[in-house]
Amino acid sequence: MSFDYDLFVIGGGSGGVRAARVAAGETGAKVALAEEDRYGGTCVIRGCVPKKLMVFASEYSGMVEDARSYGWDIKPGDFNWGTFRGKLHAELDRLEGVYRNILKNNGVESFDQRAKLVDPHTVELADGTRKTAKHILIATGGRPVVPEFPGSDLAITSNEIFHLEKLPETMLIVGGGYIACEFAGIMNGMGVKTTQFYRGAQILRGFDDEARGLICEEMCQNGVDVHLGTNVLEMAREGDRIRVKATNGTERLFDVVMYATGRAPNADDLGLEALGVERGRKGEIIVDEYSQTAVPSIYAIGDVTDRVNLTPVAIREGMAFVETVFKGNPTPVDHELIPTAIFTQPEMGTVGLSEEAAAEQEPIEVYATSFKPMQQSFAGRSQRVLMKLIVSKATRKVLGCHIVAPGAGEMIQLAGIAVKMGATKEDFDRTVAVHPVMAEELVTMRHPVRSA
Ligand code: NDP
Repeated sequence: MSFDYDLFVIGGGSGGVRAARVAAGETGAKVALAEEDRYGGTCVIRGCVPKKLMVFASEYSGMVEDARSYGWDIKPGDFNWGTFRGKLHAELDRLEGVYRNILKNNGVESFDQRAKLVDPHTVELADGTRKTAKHILIATGGRPVVPEFPGSDLAITSNEIFHLEKLPETMLIVGGGYIACEFAGIMNGMGVKTTQFYRGAQILRGFDDEARGLICEEMCQNGVDVHLGTNVLEMAREGDRIRVKATNGTERLFDVVMYATGRAPNADDLGLEALGVERGRKGEIIVDEYSQTAVPSIYAIGDVTDRVNLTPVAIREGMAFVETVFKGNPTPVDHELIPTAIFTQPEMGTVGLSEEAAAEQEPIEVYATSFKPMQQSFAGRSQRVLMKLIVSKATRKVLGCHIVAPGAGEMIQLAGIAVKMGATKEDFDRTVAVHPVMAEELVTMRHPVRSA
């Protein structure tokens, strides 16, 4: 049977674009890709990239103060959201162009429309055109979800935050995950009076307790008004503002309320059920270790499969898919020991098990140190950083590394290599310190602070 294409990719985000370009560029496959929105997907258009640029923008407020402590005669000025937003969107336009060109230069045919499946080898575009392909790859990502409650339609999500007409004076952020905590720091740094509600006992559930405790403390020190054990009951419009009734009995007015209470896979209305593609409890597409669905010609990668929802993981899954299907080299995706950074202020870099998870698994030793870093301490700040290693008593392997410090994301990428290689505590100790940097503490911790 002959098909229009060897591969049809639905979704032009990081995972889909990578798979399409590598399949076409490196194996000569005939590839098409459909994208209903902007090329680049969540990461480039409404996630990692604009978020990181906002982190950079927000950090300058503190830098000016610190520079004064170092003898610079400069005065803090006002942040101009309009100027920044204009530059931000120009940069996103540029990046979208880069993504489109990558596809074009690799001979991938692209369709700027929504696509859905009609049979295991056929997709239908929004204009009714049908295209056949030997393999179909679904890489449609995810979207933010807001729970339903009275007034929930007044909330914005991370999708809208990059498009605000003006910076609000006051803002409430609901949630305690990556997105809520990152934006609490960003908005606070930009001069917005920022309040954060989290329903649980401590933000960043699932990460190392000591690390998330320090992040929360520092966020509060920096001026974020964090309310733990607190949720929204209802919201109502009041003039230009939103009246928020909370579970802690308070009622307050905010200019903007942003919900960051999780994301859902974009797998609805793709025609999956009729074909027998299985979906899980959250609606995610169920795939095996090769990203293959229950229908052999259909594969899925990235957030729509809800495995580990991170851009580099989606890219890995896309590469492994091409390796398996187009290069004849079955390649499962390795989801173990993924280093990751959370761009809170302070930043966190983490790889492997938290102290709590490791202690449940086996006897461990904990090496940890918390100190005031030189640069900030000189500037008169009380900010602390944390370096922590979780070590297996039996094998001496470093099971987890957690860093809360400026630049922790950069540090964990490198520490992640050692941990992934199975480095022991003694391997860390054999490595000579780089002086004077914060990360030298990772190789100079002589005695465990506790065993568990
Ligand atoms: P998460 O699932 O990480 O966090 C959701 C948060 O909202 C949790 O604190 C959760 O509380 C809370 N929550 C859930 N439902 C409700 C509710 N009904 N009412 C009140 N609170 C609620 O989602 P995010 O949106 O923060 O992030 C989504 C994913 O995006 C992450 O898993 C991550 O993989 C990825 N991401 C990665 C980044 C990075 O690498 N730096 C940055 C941003 C996102 P509870 O803990 O009690 O369940």
